[in-house]
Amino acid sequence: MLLSLGTLTPSEAHSLQKAHFRANPNPSLKHRLTRLRSLRAELLRREDDIHAALWADFKKPSPEVELTEMLATLIELHHAIRHLASWIKPLRASNPVFLVGTSTNTVRFPKGPSLIIAPWNYPILLTLGPLVHATAAGCPVIIKPSEHTPNAADLVDEIISAVYPPEEAFVFKGGPERAQELLAMDVQHIHFTGSARVGRIIMESAAKCLASVTLELGGKSPTYVHSDADPLKAARSICFGKFSNAGQTCIAPDYLLVHQDVAARLLDALRDEILAGYTSGKGDADLACIVTPVHFERQLSLLDDARTMGAKVAIGGGSNISDRRLEATVLTDVPLASRLMQEEIFGPILPFITVASQEEALDIILDRPPPLSTYVFTSDESVLERFSSSVRTGAVCRNTTLLHFVQPFGPFGGEGTSGIGRSHGEAGYRAFSNEQVVLRRRWGSWILRLLLPPYTKRTSQWSRLFRHFT
Ligand code: NAD
Repeated sequence: MLLSLGTLTPSEAHSLQKAHFRANPNPSLKHRLTRLRSLRAELLRREDDIHAALWADFKKPSPEVELTEMLATLIELHHAIRHLASWIKPLRASNPVFLVGTSTNTVRFPKGPSLIIAPWNYPILLTLGPLVHATAAGCPVIIKPSEHTPNAADLVDEIISAVYPPEEAFVFKGGPERAQELLAMDVQHIHFTGSARVGRIIMESAAKCLASVTLELGGKSPTYVHSDADPLKAARSICFGKFSNAGQTCIAPDYLLVHQDVAARLLDALRDEILAGYTSGKGDADLACIVTPVHFERQLSLLDDARTMGAKVAIGGGSNISDRRLEATVLTDVPLASRLMQEEIFGPILPFITVASQEEALDIILDRPPPLSTYVFTSDESVLERFSSSVRTGAVCRNTTLLHFVQPFGPFGGEGTSGIGRSHGEAGYRAFSNEQVVLRRRWGSWILRLLLPPYTKRTSQWSRLFRHFT
């Protein structure tokens, strides 16, 4: 088929990938590793362009690009390159006694042509990360980056087309309408990262072709600071988690629940930490912008709503509409019924709610949908236990924030409205793979003969006897 790449339509690209997958349903380990290594080389080669694109899109500070885009993507790449050979090895299963004479292996096969739809907040990591998993699994894939970070989307397109032929990976840029066109194709797996609202639309589309889904969604990730927490260390970790990327992070601490015994000291520590590291006054380089005017207006309306309902600005609160910058802001006296405590904030605004006990904190958390991540600051293991056994959440971290995202040995994902399925490391590879059982009968077929017709009293006796050897 002779097609011009620039003018490929979604259905042409999909047909190309389907035909390619039919001819190559299980690419070799060598082939997959070659692609992953080339992707790593191309990512490193385009590092300066990545910095420039993310600056052009929302003035993301360079050190944050290095940490949260480059390093986080490279961790996934290194991990897959190092472990793929062991992931694709057939798994030998042991036998129940009555299956003596057989051997069973579980092998993993690529699911087939797949789709990745990505958000704007980490536009490199959240397109290339799932691509690493699709490549490791051997799936051809179409990728749609977000329309809100057009410079990063162009770069993702260039990086991917430099490494992959279109029958293995192809990028379509555009917004919801483009996504709808792509969702009309009969893919085998959809990896979506974004809001719960669009997640529901994705799942409806997946139902039409019975594709499996990984939904990496968002929500309100709570942070509880217990009475025994070290306020300085907690403030440092909370500010890093909340204000890097200007709070536009799915697992950012969304709101604080602070034990009354430590509240005053923590508020002071947060003020010091913000003044030292997160003020726009220290130069443009410390805090990214809000991605679009619409997202910026939403942040201001969240602030207005909370203030009207009685919340007080304790730190920050200033904004500059011309470059869509909002100061790192902490609010106290935030009503639980305000929008700030009902919607995912996704910006540098941090509600600071004082509680009398960990049980009061738990009640506030459990009144809300299951969070993607939950943070607990305490030196008491039993407090951590109480939270991890009570909250349905994808991760619980003690005395730190965000770090589980870059732990490739641990599966990443949410619960209910914060997500379905798991990603990262082997879990990401498995999401794009199907398991197939290969059972071989080597000897012992006489055992089966005992259970076959003509049925007699003996047959029942034999099958009852087998109950003892399962
Ligand atoms: P979004 O849901 O608005 O958009 C995500 C993608 O879906 C974009 O590519 C967009 O073009 C597409 N889209 C939008 N409307 C669509 C429609 N009607 N039909 C089909 N596709 C459509 O999300 P966003 O604003 O880009 O990202 C922010 C959200 O993503 C937050 O909720 C955040 O918590 C979540 N998020 C989750 C993770 C995670 O790993 N769990 C990571 C980053 C962001």
